[in-house]
Amino acid sequence: MLRSAGTKPIEIRQREEQMKRFIMAASVSLMALAATQVTAQVTEEDLANDQASTDQVVTNGMGRNLQRFSPLEQVNKETVSRLVPAWAFSMGGEKQRGQETQPLVYDGVMYVTGSYSRLYAIDVHTGKELWQYDARLPEGILPCCDVINRGAAIYGDKIFFGTLDARLVALDLKTGDVVWNKKIADYRAGYSYTAAPLIVNGLIITGNSGGEFGIVGEVQARDTETGEIVWTRPVIEGHMGTLNGQESTMTGTLNATWPGDLWKTGGGATWLGGSYDIDTNTLVFGTGNPAPWNSHLRNAGQPTEGNVGDNLYAASRLGIDPATGEIKWHFQTTPREGWDFDGVNEVVAYTDREGNNRFATADRNGFFYVLNRDDGAFVSATPFVRDISWASGIDENGRPIYNEDNRPGDPSAAANGDKGEMVFAVPSFLGGKNWMPMAYSQNTGNFYVPSNEWGMDIWNEPVTYREGAAYLGSGFTIKPLFEDYIGSLKAIDPDSGEIKWEYKNDAPLWGGVMTTAGGLVFFGTPEGEFKALDDETGEELWSFQTGSGIVGQPVTWEMDGQQYVSVVSGWGGAVPLWGGEVANRVNYLNQGGMVWTFKLAN
Ligand code: CA
Repeated sequence: MLRSAGTKPIEIRQREEQMKRFIMAASVSLMALAATQVTAQVTEEDLANDQASTDQVVTNGMGRNLQRFSPLEQVNKETVSRLVPAWAFSMGGEKQRGQETQPLVYDGVMYVTGSYSRLYAIDVHTGKELWQYDARLPEGILPCCDVINRGAAIYGDKIFFGTLDARLVALDLKTGDVVWNKKIADYRAGYSYTAAPLIVNGLIITGNSGGEFGIVGEVQARDTETGEIVWTRPVIEGHMGTLNGQESTMTGTLNATWPGDLWKTGGGATWLGGSYDIDTNTLVFGTGNPAPWNSHLRNAGQPTEGNVGDNLYAASRLGIDPATGEIKWHFQTTPREGWDFDGVNEVVAYTDREGNNRFATADRNGFFYVLNRDDGAFVSATPFVRDISWASGIDENGRPIYNEDNRPGDPSAAANGDKGEMVFAVPSFLGGKNWMPMAYSQNTGNFYVPSNEWGMDIWNEPVTYREGAAYLGSGFTIKPLFEDYIGSLKAIDPDSGEIKWEYKNDAPLWGGVMTTAGGLVFFGTPEGEFKALDDETGEELWSFQTGSGIVGQPVTWEMDGQQYVSVVSGWGGAVPLWGGEVANRVNYLNQGGMVWTFKLAN
């Protein structure tokens, strides 16, 4: 092996450092000695510095604020035309389904989760598999929207990911051996798990999925060492939280915004996980639709006393204390929700051009919100998709100005009592933007938002709750708005809400976005193209055909003086399953399952 003359003294210094640590550890205890000697350890500091430390990617979002911005600039507007594959890795198996994951890179290894609750460790130099873990899934799991997984989390000497049967697994980073395996919730009642977990101060924090089954959304924090629960926070009012095995506080105020007993099966799934703002020491989790979809059953369509019908804290963003699970603030994007406008989309912490600490989030309901980072207070909201029909705007308090005649009708008021009045509503229930994460650029100060232009016919039907059965009380058909495109990647100035440019795509966008200091915006399309655009103009500078649709989340890092870019390709997710006329329009797309890694050609 070749070695430059300058490296040897550094290695010697490192060995001396190690020796010093060895002696210090030995003086404390033999146990501590063993722990420091065995393997590399991902620390809280590693997680906190993930954006700046470009030689590794150890968090979902390339930083817990979820900016998805890299300071790397070797691949830039001038050089990106030379970007070529370094290696590709097949996830194998007969069941190729949506690959919505984000790779992690640590200590020479890439960790990637796959459909059907699989996790792969890959040699990051060669693309060769080191080990693979396949969760043994029971019969009868109830994932709503494909058998996807959105990524893992790393801390200490372990890697963690959630499985479709609503369990959380901790594996040894080096071997893939199971360290612990814990139940988040009962899959038979409709719970599942797909999000990347979040780790803060040694606690692993997860949400849950299952909002279409009348489950109750919850955030849980566990000890990463043991998997034991430290606190739980249900997100629907009336439910009790826990801390250290004892009841802590009730969420909200019983029956303040929910009529009768509906809060008991009130939905609000926390299915996309959360972000962490280190400046205010706050977890931010979004919550899904209130259950069932038929809003008239929840008093949303009727004039009521006070706020009954708002259905807190469904369709909201929650600021949560990471130590106790107490709710610090809430902001409800869609009170009286009746269109499946889950409020789960990611909340990104950033500093605006005037130096204010802000959060931004692009909601399913079609509006781009800016919130105050200190208390979650409303700052502004602007539409980011065309022809929004359910609200004419957002008022100065952040509350929608409803078009009540665009709420699907009450079936109990219908002549035959089995189908309420149908409306055509925009956006569709798959959202102006769905789960696919946007990115923020520290270079331009803009957000890059993967959005879709579509609407839906939607109507309500009678429904009663039955455990483990779909709990909607609605029917629907999604339709494109325009002939020539559905997908639309938009550069949005968060200070003005202005759309600076737009990149239109035939198929709906369903993958994540990444920005770099090289002035690039990376994203993939269902047609299989992995693209880099100019962050100032939207001009396409590079594109590569990956062989299957991209619904994954790109990352970049550096190794041996070279910048690498990776994305997972494999078409699937909610669109083919729920997309109505749009699903028919894209039914020619091929499935797959490949990790692609790129670098500059010499
Ligand atoms: Ca939903």
